[in-house]
Amino acid sequence: MANSETIRSINSSRILDLIRIGQPVSRAELARRTGLQRSSVSTIVNELIRKEWITEGERQILPRGRQPLALRLNRQRSRILGINVRPRHTDLVLADFNLGFEVQQRWNTPSQPEAFIAQLIPRVRSLLKNSQSSLLEGVGISLPGRVDAGNHMLIFAPNLGWRQVDLKTPLEAALGVPVHIENAANACALAEVWAGPHAGAQDLVVVTVSEGIGTGMIANGRLVRGSSGAAGEFGHICLAPEGPICRCGGRGCWEVLASNSAALRYYNQPPGAATSPPREPRRLQLRDFNELISRFNSGDARAISALQQMARYLGQGIAMLANCLAPGCVVVVGEMTAAWDTLGPVIEAEAAALARTHALPRIEPSDDHLQPRLRGAVAMVLHRYFRPGLMP
Ligand SMILES: [Zn+2]
Repeated sequence: MANSETIRSINSSRILDLIRIGQPVSRAELARRTGLQRSSVSTIVNELIRKEWITEGERQILPRGRQPLALRLNRQRSRILGINVRPRHTDLVLADFNLGFEVQQRWNTPSQPEAFIAQLIPRVRSLLKNSQSSLLEGVGISLPGRVDAGNHMLIFAPNLGWRQVDLKTPLEAALGVPVHIENAANACALAEVWAGPHAGAQDLVVVTVSEGIGTGMIANGRLVRGSSGAAGEFGHICLAPEGPICRCGGRGCWEVLASNSAALRYYNQPPGAATSPPREPRRLQLRDFNELISRFNSGDARAISALQQMARYLGQGIAMLANCLAPGCVVVVGEMTAAWDTLGPVIEAEAAALARTHALPRIEPSDDHLQPRLRGAVAMVLHRYFRPGLMP
């Protein structure tokens, strides 16, 4: 049974989250929104001010009367480091306590994890030295692979070629703060429901589409990890038993049919090319997905056909998610969302044709300007103070 200390701690997190979402907000407003007594709210608020979690503005005397004191998060409390590792480059951000990005950097991801750690540590130290606040709250790392929920090791990131990697122990030893590691799709799901456009959503799936496909699932208001942390491998469910070979060793997996790499393959080997000589020498083959999007936007028929093929397969996989999890919303994260006006309807039509549910989820592109992977990395550190039950 919850004791009074636990209840106060739950109410404290709740109030902190309400201040974050509604700031500036008054004590009276907090009492109204929580249904708690004014005196209880004041006790918690005073404690949060004393611990420097929040700040209270000056009371202004205005012609119509006294304005209530405005509460806000104390942005300067500490800094959070968010890191998003992708096969080509790694992004790093130093964020304030209100999720505002202070400095951002990008560098080429080294091929070995040992080199990655060796390059990261001096970067972090130099960033903190130049920051307004040198107190580091923690580090969140988003990775393109599954993470073991028990020992926090990266199990395997096929597109990085990293296997059984422990980033947590050496980084915690060097930086002296907690390091949280999570699969990129889970990080994006967290960013959407805690710090993004779908704040408060209870049932939502994020599909990250890049070199591979990942899914992050929020069900009944909590992140779904499964018993080992490996839940959500929808990218390796077989949609075409006779399809192309996947990196996992299987055939016709969703990701080998609907990822960026798949679209490039459709472009480079259009239908019929397999039986006739290749249309272009290998060295002329397109390898850059963003270039494929540019060609799509300029009306290149082959690019349009390749991306529509990718979109149809995305729709097929989303129908499977709709049937399995019945989310209210599916958010697609990835470079292909730049062509959403054309591809979104293709995805929706395919999903609607194949889903066997009376309530098809909304299918939406993520807002890339919000940098969901990086925000998710920062949210990994912060959300536990505000909504501790979200990510068990
Ligand atoms: Zn596979």
